[in-house]
Amino acid sequence: MKRTIVSKFGGSSVENAGQIEKVKNIIGDSKNRKFVVVSAPGRDETHRQKITDHLLNVATSGEHLTKYVSVAQSKKAIVEKFASLLKGLGLKDEGLLKNVEEDFNTSLKGDARSAFLASRGEHYTAKIVAAYLNKSGIAATVCLPEEIGFVVSDEILCAKVLPETYANLAKLKEKEAVCVIPGFYGVTKAGEIAVLSRGGSDLTGGEVAYAVGASLYENWSDVDGVYEVDPRIVKTSDVIPRLTFKEIRLLASKGFNVFHFDAMNNCKKSNIPITIRNTNRPSSVGTMILNERVPEEDVVGIAKLDHMAYIYLEKEGLGETIGFTECLLSIFNQYGIKTYHYPTDKDDIAVLIKKEDLAGNINNLRSDIEAQLSPSSLEVVYDVAILSLVGIGMKYNSSVIADAVWTLKNNHIDIEMLDHGPAKISFHIGIAQQHANRALELLYEKLILKK
Ligand code: ASP
Repeated sequence: MKRTIVSKFGGSSVENAGQIEKVKNIIGDSKNRKFVVVSAPGRDETHRQKITDHLLNVATSGEHLTKYVSVAQSKKAIVEKFASLLKGLGLKDEGLLKNVEEDFNTSLKGDARSAFLASRGEHYTAKIVAAYLNKSGIAATVCLPEEIGFVVSDEILCAKVLPETYANLAKLKEKEAVCVIPGFYGVTKAGEIAVLSRGGSDLTGGEVAYAVGASLYENWSDVDGVYEVDPRIVKTSDVIPRLTFKEIRLLASKGFNVFHFDAMNNCKKSNIPITIRNTNRPSSVGTMILNERVPEEDVVGIAKLDHMAYIYLEKEGLGETIGFTECLLSIFNQYGIKTYHYPTDKDDIAVLIKKEDLAGNINNLRSDIEAQLSPSSLEVVYDVAILSLVGIGMKYNSSVIADAVWTLKNNHIDIEMLDHGPAKISFHIGIAQQHANRALELLYEKLILKK
């Protein structure tokens, strides 16, 4: 059976002509790369903001990048960017720059204006990439979301993909040429341009892969793959070659910045592996994410969440009171505060949250908890970091947990919290923020480097 590959290229892969040439070489390397999804150009040496942010700045009369960049500067950055891509790739303008200028004058208002303008980065980048592929002898066609039926919901600044999209996209399989699809945006049933959440081109790629029944979804950016631990802290950290969807979900939810969380959902469901690859180093194999792998190591990665806090409550019998935890969590929810862990026992419970989420909320939150749940004590502990060990091999060797605890103890790092994930493939350790980086290095050496 013919293999079909969907390749998504992020902002750094299309930030200048040199990068787009690399994209072309990658596509030219395999006839199976039939679907190409592109982001808008990211930051570069001269522009500190992404093109999408400049576009949003234009849409919001300078509100989006308040204090940093004026509307005029954003317009200039956008036009210069597309002009330099065209020039650098030796492409004729064909009215593209004029269209960009016209888009700036759209009569749309409010959110519709923001969504439309935000989508233009991907829109024009796809046109440029397709033109360059054709010029280089690779037959390519632009497939705009509004033309191919990439239908999304009416929340036009954070739209969700609607089910009819899949049947519409499946028709693209009939095309002979490489389909170049702008990521990040779609069209509502009423025909309005709408954008997905930020970073949404990853999501477009995942949905295209699912719809066309791809054998692989490649996610190309400027990193070699998913690292065992944050390489800025542990320089010797390696790329993890293979990870399960379950492992990546756990690592991503605990601080690993991989790609759009929801991009994985449909690939997981239909067993489409995802690879994380580096456009600048196509020879490195990257990280493969799949449903199943042989657990050769216990801990595959360690994530770190910094600057957390926890709210600690005591009340006799709370652990046995049906609805207590639900009520407590719903109070956090009312304030829009995400909760991470809530280890509980007979008479007490702690809820982990981000410290920044408490700013401006803590007094009201405390009053609400006291009024609704009458705890005998309520304490807030700030500046905690959470280290999360993840690996499906931990299920078969829980002694790594003892190793982790001993390693911290031997280095005089006190433990604030322990939480063993019920699937037994993750273990979370809370420690004082000041020890976080050192603890990560120690645990890396003990649990990952040992192999
Ligand atoms: N350009 C959009 C953003 O900056 C979407 C993407 O890059 O995936 O969020």
